[in-house]
Amino acid sequence: AAFEAAACIGCGACVAACPNASAMLFTGAKISHLGLLPQGQPERLARVVSMLNQHDAEGFGGCTNIGECAAVCPKSVPLEVITRLNRDMGHALWKGQKAHA
Ligand code: SF4
Repeated sequence: AAFEAAACIGCGACVAACPNASAMLFTGAKISHLGLLPQGQPERLARVVSMLNQHDAEGFGGCTNIGECAAVCPKSVPLEVITRLNRDMGHALWKGQKAHA
């Protein structure tokens, strides 16, 4: 999964294909890639909070699990990266970090 997440080239095809204009596959790929690296651990939870805040602030829509993103991704980034992102976000919220400060 780390290898697949690292393959993202930031092409934006996933966002263009999404009816919600969500960038969660792209964001999930970045979160998964960094979150699976040993050196990515210290900032892991703060990073998912800040990246999701940035995602929302830039006007990208929410993910409703339609799956068009993964279907069009030229690098075969799997939907699993979004599950991973949501899991990290759950941990961050559980630790008491504010998602929308
Ligand atoms: S379509 Fe795939 S490679 Fe392109 S930005 Fe989205 S996740 Fe990355």
